[in-house]
Amino acid sequence: MMLSVVVPCYNEEGNVALFYKEAMEAFKRSNMSFEFVFVNDGSTDSTLSVLKKLCSGPVPMKIVNFSRNFGKEAAMMAGLEASKGDYVVVIDADLQQKPELVLDMLGTLEGDESVDCVAAFQESRGESKPLAFFKKSFYKLINKMSDTQFFQGASDFRCMRRRMVDAVIGMKEYHRFSKGLFSWVGFNTVYMPYTAAPRAAGDSKWSFRKLFRYAVDGIESFSTAPLRLPLYLGVLFLALSVILFVILIFAAKEFIDIAVMFFVGGTVLFCMGIMGEYLAKAYVQGKGRPVYIVKEIIDNEK
Ligand code: UDP
Ligand code: MG
Repeated sequence: MMLSVVVPCYNEEGNVALFYKEAMEAFKRSNMSFEFVFVNDGSTDSTLSVLKKLCSGPVPMKIVNFSRNFGKEAAMMAGLEASKGDYVVVIDADLQQKPELVLDMLGTLEGDESVDCVAAFQESRGESKPLAFFKKSFYKLINKMSDTQFFQGASDFRCMRRRMVDAVIGMKEYHRFSKGLFSWVGFNTVYMPYTAAPRAAGDSKWSFRKLFRYAVDGIESFSTAPLRLPLYLGVLFLALSVILFVILIFAAKEFIDIAVMFFVGGTVLFCMGIMGEYLAKAYVQGKGRPVYIVKEIIDNEK
């Protein structure tokens, strides 16, 4: 049995060597053979040269080097596609997710043939109240709107059997929302609580703006309910306009029409905006562009 360790890296020069060392120590303790698949997602620092040096180590290692930054979703996809192991773990380079936890994941998979995936989730995070509230609301909303179920706090940090990995990489959609894809493919997932450590070096790439955009993308990728909003609003306004018409016949208030105009105009624009979001996604998917472009693959076994 072999384990593939998939690590997306974007400007992680201060972390990759530390990660490599810690991961080596952890995985040596298991009796499984393993390979590293590092994806360099268009880093602008010295991540690539540090990775190249690590290639001379004793363990099979691949570097998938992107032509530019394509985002973590694309990096994960490339890593999964390049992996060969019977088990594949996706783990961050910044040591927030401790490599030794992978041993627990493997233990669960090896101990129970019916389990296909062990996914780590964070029970509590040291986040600000507004951010925690935003995340909670997101999970509530998306679980209401989508047939796919999302597990609150689940991260991309997970160890999967080959059959599940193959299912995930078989999904060729351009707008990848992994939390949804992992859930959509089905299989039996066990959730394991963990506490994320602070970043070993560097900064997180997430801002609130990016997170909000990511949440909207997630909903758009896994629910078409927003597209039905114009229909509901249309019915509502038709009913309202009948009532308004009756009222105005008896008490012709001069300015009410302006308020009504703004209200209706705003709603129409909002609904058009929603359709625009889906249209944009269909447009990009229609062009059939690849999710990522590889500049080179460095493989210390070849
Ligand atoms: N990452 C990536 N491409 C990106 C952004 C992030 O490959 O465009 C990698 C990053 O190097 C790290 C992982 O994804 O290994 C998680 O990123 P980060 O630590 O910024 O996210 P957080 O832990 O704050 O959720
Ligand atoms: Mg991190």
